[in-house]
Amino acid sequence: MELVRLINLLVAAPDICDECEDHPVWSASSLGVLKVADLYSFVVDNAGATLRITKLLWLKHVPPKVQVFGWFAWKRRIKTREYLQKLGVISQNESTVCVFCNSESESMNHVLIWCPFVWNIWTEMLKWWDVQTALPCSVESHLLWWAGGKLKKKERLIWGAIPLAVMWSVWRCRNECVFRATPPNLEDLCELIKIRIAFWVNPYLRYFHFSVQDFALHLRKGGFGLRGVLCILGFAVLTLVQSA
Ligand SMILES: [Zn+2]
Repeated sequence: MELVRLINLLVAAPDICDECEDHPVWSASSLGVLKVADLYSFVVDNAGATLRITKLLWLKHVPPKVQVFGWFAWKRRIKTREYLQKLGVISQNESTVCVFCNSESESMNHVLIWCPFVWNIWTEMLKWWDVQTALPCSVESHLLWWAGGKLKKKERLIWGAIPLAVMWSVWRCRNECVFRATPPNLEDLCELIKIRIAFWVNPYLRYFHFSVQDFALHLRKGGFGLRGVLCILGFAVLTLVQSA
């Protein structure tokens, strides 16, 4: 069967031209030339852009490097100690223990989702929004859960940025711990995540421009949900109007 297939392929192969140079051909395009529009169509035709999870990964208000990090996390390609050991980068004798809890092996789902230290961050994010729920324990199911629910456009901007902001910030904090021996601080990290989100969404919230300093100052008081966030934004607008 395989032999027949090979013969058919060889028979159908184009003639070899000694005078022509080899060159790459983009097979997804009828002209053989790569164009962005053709690439987009190719991705859409192969269901890439229609996957539900992509709606939470490719967000225009999140920095591209963070989007790419989220994509790597979804594809299970983050360079955790377990992953590096699997690749042979670190030896089998080296410890893969998590730098945050010092008790369990550092897998991707552990370090980004259910390590006790990281779980407290997710809990804080839910508390920020006055949400009480049980969260899934894998990155993919976590992202899918976060993509659910119905929210208004402005709410979705902030809510949708949370998973990427948390995972990105946790990973950076983990690297600081590993490479600079900086001890993690839960409160500071939670505040940093909210400030990052404020920076990211600020340019996209028309009519709700606010200073990040004001945002951070109020966040330090903690314990408010989306209504509180929008109140802060409104407060900032009022402050600007009054000072104008
Ligand atoms: Zn841990």
